[in-house]
Formats: sequence, structure tokens, C-alpha cells
Amino acid sequence: MKVNKILWPTDFSSNAEQALPYIKSLSQKYGAEIHVLYVIEDIAHHESWYGEFGKKRVEELMEWAPRIAKKRLNQICEKYMDDCPLHIKHISVGDPAQEILKLIEAEKSDMVIMASHGETGNFRFGSVTEVVSNDTGCLYL
Ligand code: ATP
Ligand code: MN
Repeated sequence: MKVNKILWPTDFSSNAEQALPYIKSLSQKYGAEIHVLYVIEDIAHHESWYGEFGKKRVEELMEWAPRIAKKRLNQICEKYMDDCPLHIKHISVGDPAQEILKLIEAEKSDMVIMASHGETGNFRFGSVTEVVSNDTGCLYL
């Protein structure tokens, strides 16, 4: 099997970082590119939020989000990817699971390695991982 592209979706949580050892060792083994993806959740589409914050506030937040996301993604990559010359950063806006599935398709990723949990990290299996794993051939470690 040849693995050219590995996708690491991260919500910047410490749970997401649990995937790193697997990503790094497989990328080294196959000389594969690592695609790092952060998805900005598009809260502007949740109309119920308007009541709480107001439409203008939500729009302001969504305007700031890409700048903050870019900064945090750079920081994460500086911290963990400095020994991975083949890493590519992606940011998108939308529903995290759907954006992960779209990027797998667009990049023809050979493998997605992600933790079962993210920033919420409660007892329940993470909802993003659940949707992505239902839609891909998946191996639980
Ligand atoms: P919840 O279902 O309440 O969100 P959770 O935060 O513990 O629970 P998930 O959101 O499913 O669990 O997170 C699991 C993994 O999904 C993360 O470790 C990360 O790899 C990926 N993920 C989650 N959110 C994002 C995001 N916004 N961008 C990129 N990857 C994400
Ligand atoms: Mn989450």
C-alpha cells in the first residue's frame, strides 16, 4: 500500500493531538504529505444564535474567525510539524464533519487520522469523528 496524503483534522484541542504520533510515524514511513485542517464552524447558519448574540455580532465574529484560525493553525504547525517538511495547511468554514469529508474527496486523501474526541471531550464519542468514520473505511485503534 502506498500512502501519499494523510489528513489530520484538528480543532486545536489536546484530544486532537492524540492523533499526532500515528500521523508522524506513518508520514515518515511512507514519505506522505500531512494535510492539517481546521474548520471554522459557521455559526451564522444557526439562526437560533441570532437571538442570543444578534445578527451583527455573529457576522463580526465570522469576520474575525479566519484571522484567528490562521494564527492558531500556524502556531500548531510550528509546534508539531517542524520536523515534517511535507505539511500543508487548510482552513475552511462550515460543518466540521462535512468539510473533512469534502477535503478527503478534493485532495484524494489516502488516510484520515483523528482522535475519537475533541474539545468537548465528554464520555460520548465525538460527533465529528462519528460522522466521518461512518462515511469512510475506518479502523479503530
Ligand atoms: P462534540 O461532538 O461535542 O463536538 P468532541 O468535541 O469531544 O465532541 P469531536 O468534535 O467529534 O468531539 O472531535 C473529534 C475530532 O474531530 C477532533 O479530535 C478533531 O480531529 C476533529 N474535529 C472536531 N472539530 C473540528 C474542527 N472544527 N476542525 C477540524 N477538525 C475537527
Ligand atoms: Mn467537537
